[in-house]
Amino acid sequence: MIENRFKNIYNIDVLIVGAGINGAGLFRELALQDVNCLLIDKSDFMSGASAAPSRMIHGGLRYLENREVRLVQESLSERNLLLQNAPHYVFPLPTVIPIYHWFSGIINGIRKFFGMKATNTPRGAIIVKLGLLMYDIFTRNQRVVPTHQFSSRKKSLEDRPLLDPNIVCTALFYDAWISFPERLGIELIQDGLDLNNGSIALNYVSLNRVENGQVILKDELSGRETKIKPKVVVNATGAWIDFANLSLGKKTKFIGGTKGSHLMVDNQALMNATMGQMVYYENDEGRICILFPLHGKVMIGSTDIKVTNPDEVVCTDEEVEYMLSCVRQVFPKLDINPSQVIFKYSGVRPLPNSEGDLKNAQISRDHSTKVIEPTEGGLPFPILNLIGGKWTTFRAFGEQTSDKILTYLGLSSKVKSTNFAIGGGKNFPKTEVEKINWIGKIQKKSGLEAERINTLLNRYGTNAEKVIDYIRLGGDCLLKSSPNYSKREIEYLLKNEFVNHLDDLILRRTVIALSGELTSELFIELADIYSDFFQLNLDVKSKEIERTKAILTQKHGVNLNV
Ligand SMILES: Cc1cc2nc3c(=O)[nH]c(=O)nc-3n(C[C@H](O)[C@H](O)[C@H](O)COP(=O)(O)OP(=O)(O)OC[C@H]3O[C@@H](n4cnc5c(N)ncnc54)[C@H](O)[C@@H]3O)c2cc1C
Repeated sequence: MIENRFKNIYNIDVLIVGAGINGAGLFRELALQDVNCLLIDKSDFMSGASAAPSRMIHGGLRYLENREVRLVQESLSERNLLLQNAPHYVFPLPTVIPIYHWFSGIINGIRKFFGMKATNTPRGAIIVKLGLLMYDIFTRNQRVVPTHQFSSRKKSLEDRPLLDPNIVCTALFYDAWISFPERLGIELIQDGLDLNNGSIALNYVSLNRVENGQVILKDELSGRETKIKPKVVVNATGAWIDFANLSLGKKTKFIGGTKGSHLMVDNQALMNATMGQMVYYENDEGRICILFPLHGKVMIGSTDIKVTNPDEVVCTDEEVEYMLSCVRQVFPKLDINPSQVIFKYSGVRPLPNSEGDLKNAQISRDHSTKVIEPTEGGLPFPILNLIGGKWTTFRAFGEQTSDKILTYLGLSSKVKSTNFAIGGGKNFPKTEVEKINWIGKIQKKSGLEAERINTLLNRYGTNAEKVIDYIRLGGDCLLKSSPNYSKREIEYLLKNEFVNHLDDLILRRTVIALSGELTSELFIELADIYSDFFQLNLDVKSKEIERTKAILTQKHGVNLNV
């Protein structure tokens, strides 16, 4: 008989629909305030836009042009908090900007700043300098990364001989990047569950419809349905917000999503040309493009295309060609071709609907909450819609939304999440010496090699200790097709990290597919461990294999010979 996953959900106060970073962040925030929550996602946790970002944890230099000073200040402050609270996954990111003009873009910059129509003149050194100065000023009281600097054309080309020789200079500034966004989201959910044992998180459960003031949820794994009556509903479904409201009987037009795609490219010359830094450049249409080293390959992004159905987005061949042509503009001597794309991914930015003639890049990346009050919705609960936002600002958005929910519940805030480390970021060693000591301590207790402990520390932060404790409880072996992982390590993820489908493991609990490590042999080995662990029969196992293969081919351009 298929398990009833709805057993304990009837005492919850708040239903959060959508477990991307905004739903997951709010879940932990409310758990901290002792509010019982049910977090659901129709698919896997962190499988929407939150699995598809450019992986920048950033202030958003570009947003200054649109006068979004408050957003940039908040983002920089959240960036610094994430460097502190998730030191296992968030790191400083040196970023170089190739600049082609000295004075260009000043008039245009002023027009954009005042919300007027603007053309696409390139951003010159003066305007870039102004932006970087503001960046440095905003963080002067919390200086955790170095301030910006400029380099002459001569020095820039000496350092990076493959860079377009038409530059006049380069600027270097610091932001941050995140190595495992999907994993950090899972850790937030686990933190929420640890903090409040009345809270529950279920992936593959969808908000289906509403009947007589009760919300009907559907378990997408078993087909089972149930009714609940929460006091507050949060619609955190990102690009799906209007669809979810429709399921609640409410027609809205809050979202005007844009698709963004990224490529992972295996090209050693390009990797060398990055010099371990992000290259943040303007293409000949005036769009900002990025590339930087990620998990041994180079990540290239992105596109910005209006879409209506978030379920259907994939990275097309035209987008691949467009992104590669952008890279050729900044590194004209480099030979990059589509066969070097080893993985691609797309997501939909849940941007606020904008009817005007703003370009996609000009639409605000700020967050807001739109409330449908019970009187308006004809329902016995308010619906709080979480519109927009960035990965970077999830904590601030969660805190602001939590305060609103507490007011509805007649409660007040008990604890601030500002200095709460996340998951494996707790007690993370801060210096090389602390790291060596940590590894030594674990080595003494486990007998594992220091190098392996180091790998696990980089992969799971201090949660590596839990993984190692589990590894020690049974006979373990390194995977034959990828000795970088072990059998019991994979089993730990299956047991503790809400894995249901095989693709949850391959695409979101690990970076095995994204990093290009996924060979046909490794795929089969992982499928065997997965099906043995869950004791699946051959029929179910082969369905899982086919499902995962189809997702890998259609969504990520990965074709396995299995
Ligand atoms: C291409 C791209 C690049 C980006 N780059 C950056 C960046 O570098 N830095 C940065 O800070 N931000 C970046 N962002 C923005 C950031 O990723 C998003 O703003 C953020 O992830 C949105 O999170 P969310 O939780 O609102 O939505 P999502 O992550 O999309 O989550 C919504 C969830 O709702 C679920 N859902 C939908 N309908 C239902 C239903 N009926 N029932 C149950 N569940 C449902 C979906 O399955 C999904 O998991 C980028 C976004 C994109 C797309």
